[in-house]
Amino acid sequence: MSDPREAVALALRGLADTLRHHRDLGLRDLALAAVPFPDPGDALAEQQRARQGCQLCKLCKSRTNVAFGSGSARARLMVVGEGPGEEEDKQGVPFVGRAGQLLTKMLASVGFDRERDCYIANVVKCRPERNRNPEPDEVAACSPFLMAQIDTIRPHVILALGNFAAQTLLGTKEGITRLRGKTYQYRASVLVPTFHPAFLLRNPGPEFRRMAWDDLKLARREYDRLADGGSR
Ligand code: URA
Repeated sequence: MSDPREAVALALRGLADTLRHHRDLGLRDLALAAVPFPDPGDALAEQQRARQGCQLCKLCKSRTNVAFGSGSARARLMVVGEGPGEEEDKQGVPFVGRAGQLLTKMLASVGFDRERDCYIANVVKCRPERNRNPEPDEVAACSPFLMAQIDTIRPHVILALGNFAAQTLLGTKEGITRLRGKTYQYRASVLVPTFHPAFLLRNPGPEFRRMAWDDLKLARREYDRLADGGSR
């Protein structure tokens, strides 16, 4: 890079990215000496507060409530779904409808209490009308907030539910049937893709449930391994 103006522009872009990231993490003061990292619960509460009334994409026109996230800020397992459905939109909480009830049972089947052990969020925080797939501009608008949640919680394991969450996080077009059954490195976490509980409700065939059960056991093994100090 021979032009010094280019180097300055690059440095300023990097600084702007860092400041945006800190804002998304809930840091409110710009401390020029040591930057105190907030308690993850406070940081998530601040992130959630900042998203109320969000108008960054067109989903704001039809949503009732922003369903930002739920569960423990100290969770070592994070669950990522697609986007809120009707019940989630009404209550402003992810996974509280029928799919959410099945998810709670799936997590419990491998010993996770959803409130105590997990933090649950979606790729988009507002309901797409008639539960259509979120569109790329909506995902792009909402992604920084999912990234901020992940960076605040720093989960050991991320359980990605269904095509949409797995493809979005892994940046692939590969379908869930091919992605599942394996682990992937994702930022500082191990990502385990599995079927979305809404898919399991629509396809109650035992083979899908068996595969989902295998994935949950895989997530549990990774969780226990990393809790024992295994490397991510
Ligand atoms: N489906 C999702 O992907 N997320 C929810 O919160 C509810 C249903």
